[in-house]
Amino acid sequence: MRIDIITIFPEIFSPLDTSIVKRARSRGIIELHLWNLRDFSRDKHKKVDDAPYGGGKGMVLACEPIFLAVEHVKKFNSDSLTILTSPQGEIFTQRKAEELSKSKGLIIICGHYEGVDERVKTIVDYEISIGDYVLTGGELPAMVIVDCIVRLLPGVLPEEAPKFDSFSDCLLDWPCYTRPENFRGMKVPGVLLSGNHERIKEWRLKQATERTKQRRPDLYARYLKKKGGKDASENSSD
Ligand code: SAH
Repeated sequence: MRIDIITIFPEIFSPLDTSIVKRARSRGIIELHLWNLRDFSRDKHKKVDDAPYGGGKGMVLACEPIFLAVEHVKKFNSDSLTILTSPQGEIFTQRKAEELSKSKGLIIICGHYEGVDERVKTIVDYEISIGDYVLTGGELPAMVIVDCIVRLLPGVLPEEAPKFDSFSDCLLDWPCYTRPENFRGMKVPGVLLSGNHERIKEWRLKQATERTKQRRPDLYARYLKKKGGKDASENSSD
C-alpha cells in the first residue's frame, strides 16, 4: 500500500520509522512518502496559510498548495483515497481502519492552525477525526491512522493476531500474562498454565465478554446483536 502524507511538519514523523511500521516499510508492505506542503506554495516565502475571511483568530491553510500537492501525489497512484484529518470528521474506529486497509493507497492531509479552507473538502474522500478533542495539527492523527491500518495489512503481524484484538469482534481483548508465574504474590490464572486449549479459549472468551460488559456497555450491546442476542460465553466454565 502506498501512503502519502501532506504536512507542514514532515520532520515529526519519526514514530513511523520505528518498530512494526518500520518493519512493514522495510518488507515493502507499505511505501510511505512525506510531502512538505510548503514545496507546493507559489509564494516566494513558501507561505501556505492566510487570515480567515470575515476576520477572527488564527490562520487557515489555503486551498492552492493543498490542491497542487494532492494533484501531484495522485500521479503516483490515481486509486489512492484522500483523507482530511479534522476534528469535525467521522470518528476513526477499528472498523474504519479495516475498511481503509483494503484500499490501494491513502493520501492524508494534515491541517494546522485554525484548519484548512473549506473548499479542500471537495477533493477528499473522507474527513476523519481521531476523537472528540482538538489537537494543534493533523500530524498525530495521521500517525494514528497509519499505525492502526498498517498493523492490519497481511504480512505485518502474525496472521491471526489482529483477529483477536480489542474491537475486532465487538469485544475488548482478554487479560494477558507472561513470565514469571508468580510476581510479588500475584499469580497467573491456573487455567492458562493447564495446557488445555479448549478451556483456555473458553476462559478468554468469558473474560473478554465480562470485561466488555463492564467497561463498554455500548460495545457489548453490539456484540450481543451480532451474536443474535446470545452471549457466547454463557455456558463456558471458569
Ligand atoms: N478550528 C478547528 C480545529 C483546527 S485544529 C475546529 O475547531 O474544528 C488544526 C488541525 O488539527 C485540523 O485542521 C486537523 O487537521 C487537526 N486535528 C485537530 N484535532 C483533530 C482530531 N481530533 N482528529 C483529527 N484531526 C485533528
